Amino acid sequence: MEVPLLDLKAQYATIKDEVLAAVSEVLESQRCIGGPKVAEFEEKIAAISDCRFAVGASSGTDAILNSLMSLDIGAGDEVITTPFTFFATIGCICRTGAKPVFVDINPKTFNINPELIESAVTEKTKAIMPVHLYGQMADMDPIIEIAKKHDLSVIEDAAQSITSTYKDRKAGSIGTAGCFSFFPSKNLGGIGDGGMIVTNDEQLYERLFIMRNHGSKPKYYHRHIGGNFRLDPIQASALLIKLPHLDKWSEARRRNAANYDKKFSGTVVQTPYISPDCVSIFNQYVIRVPRRDEVVAHLRENNIGCEVYYPIPAHLQECFKYLGYKEGDMPESEKAAKEVIALPVYPELTDEMKDYVVEAILSFLK
Ligand SMILES: *Cc1c(COP(=O)(O)O)cnc(C)c1O
Repeated sequence: MEVPLLDLKAQYATIKDEVLAAVSEVLESQRCIGGPKVAEFEEKIAAISDCRFAVGASSGTDAILNSLMSLDIGAGDEVITTPFTFFATIGCICRTGAKPVFVDINPKTFNINPELIESAVTEKTKAIMPVHLYGQMADMDPIIEIAKKHDLSVIEDAAQSITSTYKDRKAGSIGTAGCFSFFPSKNLGGIGDGGMIVTNDEQLYERLFIMRNHGSKPKYYHRHIGGNFRLDPIQASALLIKLPHLDKWSEARRRNAANYDKKFSGTVVQTPYISPDCVSIFNQYVIRVPRRDEVVAHLRENNIGCEVYYPIPAHLQECFKYLGYKEGDMPESEKAAKEVIALPVYPELTDEMKDYVVEAILSFLK
């Protein structure tokens, strides 16, 4: 049997005609930048995120970059974040000229540990950027409390967690701004790159809106130095077709996750911990195992797709050496990086496939 980590063809087959018609509509209109599809999609993402405003972005990365730039974060500033995340979180902070300050994770949730944040705050700190990793939101209440006390912005990197909740509140709606990615492997994936920023702050919304178009308002009059951070209408049109399926797809991922949990219970495999405060959308189903690298090799030999998110925490990446961190500084992130494996959890996964994955892991570790 072959079990891919993700099977986008299976999903596409169910919506192909509608996607082709929607894309064709954009092409026929030749509104190839901005336009009504982008505006409609922004409105719908704001609504499902319980936010007043949304601004499309060319990618999740550019959503984060635009948020930081629109909050005037740059040289001399510090942003507190987790080292156990995708590169983009940290890369964007550095590209503004600001300095990322790392705080280790809670080993249960893999998300930033709020108890460690306050001691990282300095007079240079401007923002906290929690990352809602794998589909589960970070512990937001203590983060917001610290942010209020020290007058900091909170930018939620919700790239993996659209519609996920924390105490019944939606990802992106708790912080100053929330950033989503529509990279094809996310729960709501486009047919190329795309992203979105949501916020309840009207002033920030206006700034984000201007910044995404080189900071110009009116056209050719540049108030700020922005960029080309625009969401493509072809992406918006395809995403509008997929959006009504999102909850159903996330529910199927949760069912797959619950099924894996049951099959792994009582074994050496550590299954994901989901806080009672949270509903995860399981963008990834991530287990911890002993002899991780051997397990990964074994799975690949058996045609089972899997991935390590992420093998090297940001503080140990070569390009961030100048920040001065060393091995041992973020023990929980470093340990997680050596133990985690993401298994196939996509909605179309069959019971036979899940059985095959579980059997491959358990027979190897026996
Ligand atoms: C996917 C992702 C991003 C970047 O999104 P792109 O759309 O690929 O630019 C940022 N942060 C996290 C945590 C992600 O998973």
